[in-house]
Amino acid sequence: MADVLTYVLHRDGAFNKNSLGAVSEGATRAAEVGGSCHAVVVGGDDLTDALCATLGEYGATKVFRAAGPEGLAQPVIDVMDRVISEHGHRYALFGGGLLGFEIGAGLAARRHAGVTMEVTAVRAQDGELVAERPILQDSKISVSHYRGELGIIIGRINAFEIRKPDAAVGAAEVIDVAVDYSPWSQRARMVTRGEQRGADVDIEGAEILVAGGRGLGKAEGFQLAEDLAKAFGDKAAVAATRAVVDAGWYPYAAQIGQTGKTVSPKLYLAAGISGAIQHKVGMQASENIVAINKDANAPIFEFSDLGIVGDLNKVLPKLTDALRARKAG
Ligand SMILES: Cc1cc2nc3c(=O)[nH]c(=O)nc-3n(C[C@H](O)[C@H](O)[C@H](O)COP(=O)(O)OP(=O)(O)OC[C@H]3O[C@@H](n4cnc5c(N)ncnc54)[C@H](O)[C@@H]3O)c2cc1C
Repeated sequence: MADVLTYVLHRDGAFNKNSLGAVSEGATRAAEVGGSCHAVVVGGDDLTDALCATLGEYGATKVFRAAGPEGLAQPVIDVMDRVISEHGHRYALFGGGLLGFEIGAGLAARRHAGVTMEVTAVRAQDGELVAERPILQDSKISVSHYRGELGIIIGRINAFEIRKPDAAVGAAEVIDVAVDYSPWSQRARMVTRGEQRGADVDIEGAEILVAGGRGLGKAEGFQLAEDLAKAFGDKAAVAATRAVVDAGWYPYAAQIGQTGKTVSPKLYLAAGISGAIQHKVGMQASENIVAINKDANAPIFEFSDLGIVGDLNKVLPKLTDALRARKAG
């Protein structure tokens, strides 16, 4: 039997979407290898029986609930370690994101387990789960097989779609787990929880999007995109590629593409973006696409209405100045 254990983060009475994707994926894949998907939740009184049971809709048959601090990695590792010791899960699966990475890595160290990060697909092969991970700038796929008692799979953020599997159980069984947290797990405490900068930007509603990619060079490079969006006025916002979101240069809420948002603004201005297919699918319906790229052979020029071959560090400030001058005049 190959059961899958997931961790589900929650806040203000709602489960995190990335975690729900992990439960859906865990349930679907566990069924393919004759197992079940279980979830771990850690938190306070707001983790009610009724709320926890709703994870059954996404395919979790059991929810292990522990009282403890929410949103910190080490206590979750303690709980998962305990649950795996008692129930013998074969896989632990996470939806990605910084917390998922930290818990997955910590659990791998604790249980001497193999771990694969940035997984974009999981499939069953010969009764076992294997994880696929793009490598070499996404040009190749590496496949991980797991030896040993536990295999750990950490997805790319939002790589796992939220689904309500046909085999969903309805309400999951909720089981309380009492855990003696390790001394080191109690050393960190949550000071505040909040949304990332830019997370509240209405990308889908914006008429003009100034999108930045790796060509911006570093997180501070986004200032050029923000200045231009500001010069366009209230209806403009800044968007980003996955490469820069993964690098931590800009928040996920601004990501356009296959694993981000799909938009169709009046103007999509792409600065330092190569035009990978996974990005294209999220913005190709834009009314007008303008691309700035220093490489005349960049794929984005193949589907742009207007292409500027040049250094964005020169072109973006000039556009911003021109817009400001026009508004002032
Ligand atoms: C399963 C899966 C899902 C994915 N989902 C998404 C998604 O949702 N969204 C997404 O965007 N990607 C997604 N990707 C990643 C995608 O394949 C690309 O890796 C990514 O879009 C590349 O981002 P980029 O264009 O910023 O970077 P790069 O491909 O590195 O391109 C940077 C560009 O900047 C140009 N440049 C550099 N310096 C300058 C300069 N000074 N002036 C002008 N131009 C410059 C370069 O010529 C280059 O064309 C996904 C990949 C996979 C495998």
